[in-house]
Amino acid sequence: MEPQNHVSDGADHAFCPVTGVKGKAVKMVTLKALLTPHALAELNPKAEFRFCPDPMCDVVYFSENQTYRTDDIKVPVLQKSQSLDVPVCYCFGHTHSEVVKAAEADSGQKLEGSISAHIKAGRCGCEVNNPQGSCCLGNVKAIVRALIT
Ligand SMILES: [Zn+2]
Repeated sequence: MEPQNHVSDGADHAFCPVTGVKGKAVKMVTLKALLTPHALAELNPKAEFRFCPDPMCDVVYFSENQTYRTDDIKVPVLQKSQSLDVPVCYCFGHTHSEVVKAAEADSGQKLEGSISAHIKAGRCGCEVNNPQGSCCLGNVKAIVRALIT
């Protein structure tokens, strides 16, 4: 086993305090855009936050000493929701059911192409729209691929 104590640079806070799953760093602007007013009022703007991707975990963002859960976020979080009404592409408003329907109608690639075109045109605002804080296209592709294979 690798010793854990040589890990530094905040990497020791990279794991969700509830499930222990590794979280990806998110920008402060994402939290500022997506936290509810009540949650935002408690935010430490100097902290480094990460996104917990575990679907079984209610924690969305965590830092060394703060956690924000799904109730603290203004929008439903794809990774944490079983609902087909949840957005997959937050910027251009494609829900999970819409992506599933497109994949089933064999137009998944077309939907991906439409999102790609918006990204190329510089219209994408994932860092302030998507709770994950990064581009949604990978999530769209994953859902389409899962249904066409
Ligand atoms: Zn978690």
